[in-house]
Amino acid sequence: MQTPKEIVLKQRCFFYNGNTLSISYRKEALLKLKKSLEKHQDELIQAVYNDFKKSEYEVLLTEFAMLQLEIKNHLKNLYHWAKPQKVRASILNFPSSDFIYKQPYGVVLIISPWNYPLLLALQPMISAIAAGNCVILKPSEISVHTSKVLQKMISETFPQEYISVIQGDVQKTTEILENKFDKIFFTGSTSVGKIIQQKAAETLTPTVLELGGKSPCVINKSANLEIAAKRITFGKFVNAGQTCIAPDFIWIDETIKDKFIAILKQTIIDFYGNEMQPNPDFPRIINQKQFLRLEKYLSDGKIYFGGKTDAVDNYIQPTILDDISFDDAIMQDEIFGPILPILTFKNLAEVIEHNHQNEKPLAMYLFSTNESEIKKFMTQTQFGGGCINDVLSHIINDKVPFGGFGASGLGNYHGKFGFDTFVHFKTIVHRKNWFDFKIKYAPYAKKSQIIKKFLFRFLS
Ligand code: NAD
Repeated sequence: MQTPKEIVLKQRCFFYNGNTLSISYRKEALLKLKKSLEKHQDELIQAVYNDFKKSEYEVLLTEFAMLQLEIKNHLKNLYHWAKPQKVRASILNFPSSDFIYKQPYGVVLIISPWNYPLLLALQPMISAIAAGNCVILKPSEISVHTSKVLQKMISETFPQEYISVIQGDVQKTTEILENKFDKIFFTGSTSVGKIIQQKAAETLTPTVLELGGKSPCVINKSANLEIAAKRITFGKFVNAGQTCIAPDFIWIDETIKDKFIAILKQTIIDFYGNEMQPNPDFPRIINQKQFLRLEKYLSDGKIYFGGKTDAVDNYIQPTILDDISFDDAIMQDEIFGPILPILTFKNLAEVIEHNHQNEKPLAMYLFSTNESEIKKFMTQTQFGGGCINDVLSHIINDKVPFGGFGASGLGNYHGKFGFDTFVHFKTIVHRKNWFDFKIKYAPYAKKSQIIKKFLFRFLS
């Protein structure tokens, strides 16, 4: 087996030999990835199930569908995105033609988490391939079954010097990070993101950090509570709450809390039935460590609904926790599981003030039909991205960037934003030789007057 250092060296050679530069090569690679995903679909679905009992439907909807759309979008637009962009030249450079070249970085490292083990490994890879890079993928060692199939699939599809999967734990990742990459794309926790950023800083390697945090879901008096309950139940409990942009907690106007949580409870029962553990639609917590972390939260506040657990099966029932305050343990860190605390506010100003005083969330959601409140919320709060009257859906549209802000992340991707993330924008001013403006050359005597008279007229 080759060491990370040897693989990086081989990839750098492959890149500098120009193998990845033509658009046709990149398109062919995307088509190969598409075919390989189709070929291994059943095996991958089974692997994700083996990791945390995620249902076939959820894998198809939240991972395969997103990947197929992303490949289609890149194939359709690649030529247009990649071609040098001609821009208006500056009069100060007359005569010239000015361009922005989209140049691949070279060898990029993608480090992915376990919670959407296919999507978060392959979606950045699609953009990296389209942009003309060589890729090393380090999938999560926690989603062990999926990572194994991913490695098999990629090694069958691509030569190692082009795209390679290296598996391993923290020690292995540390070894990988000892190499110089041209870009690092990391998805995972904020704490590990800081480690990656520190390591990258040693060689000034550019990074994208897709991190986590607490994403509030605010519900205002004017909201349609029936629709809010359905959309929040889907967004919170899909993947058993192990979604970076899941609503972390509900923050609701105190006058409508009781009404809303009654509707929410009924909606959860309508979706998953009274006996949720045998329901094949509802996944498990990824492992015992995460199960025990989450189980402790159940002693915060008052269990309004749910609260059943089974340690042998890493099962936690969808749960609503009432009587929660910002001082409770559950409000100190990202929950990342199927437990939904309910907090109340008296007016929206409290929510805005809290946003200003805390780390910027990855996502924020507002359920409201009051236009002036929506406008206030949109303009006065800071967060990665979000929705009005929905949760999660901003991740689906491939025409918009996806990423965090501040502690929830750095940089973004999806669609053209993903392509742009994996290219360097190289500016080229192509001067012409048929005229040479001598005024800029020494000696400068008396030239100040000319500049004042003529040039400033053009510039002002
Ligand atoms: P994690 O940070 O523990 O691990 C992510 C990756 O980093 C894994 O591949 C892991 O092997 C590697 N890693 C772990 N410790 C490391 C270390 N010390 N040095 C180098 N590499 C290390 O995250 P996770 O538990 O896999 O995923 C959950 C977290 O990811 C949550 O915080 C969630 O919000 C976040 N997340 C963010 C997004 C997003 O798009 N913003 C998407 C999914 C998950």
